[in-house]
Amino acid sequence: MLSNKRNKTCCIKLKGLYDVSPELGVNFRVIKNSNEFIEESKNRGFPIENGKLKYILTDGYSGRLSSKESKLLFIEYCPFCGKKLSKIFKDDSQINEENHEW
Ligand SMILES: [Zn+2]
Repeated sequence: MLSNKRNKTCCIKLKGLYDVSPELGVNFRVIKNSNEFIEESKNRGFPIENGKLKYILTDGYSGRLSSKESKLLFIEYCPFCGKKLSKIFKDDSQINEENHEW
């Protein structure tokens, strides 16, 4: 059973892409960078803010999100209603993909 927070999205159109399985067409993923990745970003001089969730549109994938077969677009605003995603998805319980290398 999903929690209320998990079910909360800005609009019904984005909810469809959020709930759909990764391999089924265009979908919307909420991820969080790993601590190792954030450390590495500091070493490279382009620090990524700790704890922030990231938002991705993909054309579908099987296996890892970060595999070569998956095409990704990082987004900050909902493509349907224009709301800022960081205001809607701000809790770790809303992460819907952890199978990636970042
Ligand atoms: Zn929306």
